Amino acid sequence: MPHPSRTPIGVDATRGCVWFVGAGPGHPDLITARGLDRLARADCVVHDTLVTEALLDSAAVGAERIVVSRDGADADPGVTTGRLLADLAMAGRKVVRLKGGDPAVFGRLAEELRPVREAGIPYEIVPGVTAMLAAAAAAGVPLTSRSTASHLTLLTGHEADEKASSLDLAALAALPGTLAVYMGVGRAAEWAARLVAAGRPTTTPVTIVSRCSWPDQRIATTTLGGCAEAFATHHWPSPAVIIVGDVAEESAGPPALPLAGKRILLTRPAGQSDELATAIAMLGGESLHVPVVEIVPPDSWEPFDTAIRQAGTFDWIVFASVNGVESFLARLRAARLDARALGTARLAAIGTATARRLDQAGLVCDLTPGISSSEGIVAALLPTIRAGRILLIRADRGRDVMRREFEAAGHEVNEVAAYSSRPVTTLDAATLARLESTPVDWVTITSGAIAESAARLFGDRMRSWRIASLSPITSAVLRGLGLPPQCEASDASAAALAAAIARFQADRPVVPAEPTDSSRPSRST
Ligand code: SAH
Repeated sequence: MPHPSRTPIGVDATRGCVWFVGAGPGHPDLITARGLDRLARADCVVHDTLVTEALLDSAAVGAERIVVSRDGADADPGVTTGRLLADLAMAGRKVVRLKGGDPAVFGRLAEELRPVREAGIPYEIVPGVTAMLAAAAAAGVPLTSRSTASHLTLLTGHEADEKASSLDLAALAALPGTLAVYMGVGRAAEWAARLVAAGRPTTTPVTIVSRCSWPDQRIATTTLGGCAEAFATHHWPSPAVIIVGDVAEESAGPPALPLAGKRILLTRPAGQSDELATAIAMLGGESLHVPVVEIVPPDSWEPFDTAIRQAGTFDWIVFASVNGVESFLARLRAARLDARALGTARLAAIGTATARRLDQAGLVCDLTPGISSSEGIVAALLPTIRAGRILLIRADRGRDVMRREFEAAGHEVNEVAAYSSRPVTTLDAATLARLESTPVDWVTITSGAIAESAARLFGDRMRSWRIASLSPITSAVLRGLGLPPQCEASDASAAALAAAIARFQADRPVVPAEPTDSSRPSRST
């Protein structure tokens, strides 16, 4: 038995329910928004071993997890799982049955559903991205084509040599459409030979996507005639989807983006990596968030609150970060004040993200330097003011450039801490497991404090990753730690940092070891 038998207690069929949720092919971001919603509401998740840990982490804290195996000694594992689901729901549980890909595609849905329906339990089926769709997208293969494939067939390759099988490969071979073979790795030689014997040309293009969307995804191409030998030579691991048909020839290949297949670790505090994650995604890369510093309130709000009450008396208020704007808005509100408290003070922001946050709050920024840095602010602001009072809103530690320069030029400077950042000192078990299981190509380092914390937190792992630095000052700290960066942003912006990584990659294209096989999502890297 794959699960302990359960006696229904406090039977109340109206309270419990079963949500059959498609998890997608593997990567945790390929589940649907509705699937994620049901996962967060469930108090029990029944899943098989192929579902990623990262996805299970989206379940509510404390939700019970029950693993069921697909095979095993059971005469019918589908029905056994269905009974388990029914029992759990009868006991009042909200159950998610998380299934790889889509629940209705080769997923024993009918068998699992039967006991649930018979017990009169409410259920819902939440569709998922089936492996074929994810595979076609990864390989850039259209599944239908106006000229060569007006229909598409999903079939199992597992039954290829079973006489009693209902799979009529000869009939399928006679149809001119696309075939998507699931569970086809083990018997590739058989089904390929039978398709050829039934009249499909040996030259028919074949695209294999193995472990689609997992870190070790591989994409390869061959022909129907070459299938047996190619599978025997390359040992593409399961699970894999094999796309057979002329559409494979129309393959655009994976999108030729410079960061395709690259995993990039973002280390900024939670909520501050959005711009960088977007810039990386636009270039085809994938971000992993592991903050190495966290934002906490300053030791005391007193100086900050006093400055806010006097905001209208300053000539300029300078925001050195998005965090500074957040704290300013929160404390302004806490004091029951609004934009009127700023009087005639003009506003400067260190960079575009900070200016945008001001703008979202209805505060127009008067000045943003061309170069986002303390030096940039000083250079832009100094020529515009004579003797003035300047309020600097920044972290409680860091560089002192702005205050020194403004004071040297004769201005009165009030510098207040809007937040404090402190290093994260331990990695939780889930993050450690993720770092162990997911190959990381790059780590982004966006300040000296982040460099120091990352070096402590990640230790020797840092030496196996490429390091991208946001600025010359950050690079200097990295070099001091014995961790010289491989690239540096041309200015201190998210877009420039992502572009620097892309440029480094473009200068060093990785030539695939074998022309028909790519061990990474992209054949172009
Ligand atoms: N319900 C699933 C299919 C389950 S049958 C779905 O809709 O995708 C298992 C088969 O699905 C595997 O043998 C393989 O053919 C395919 N498969 C599942 N995950 C896959 C992945 N990440 N990459 C490639 N093929 C996958």
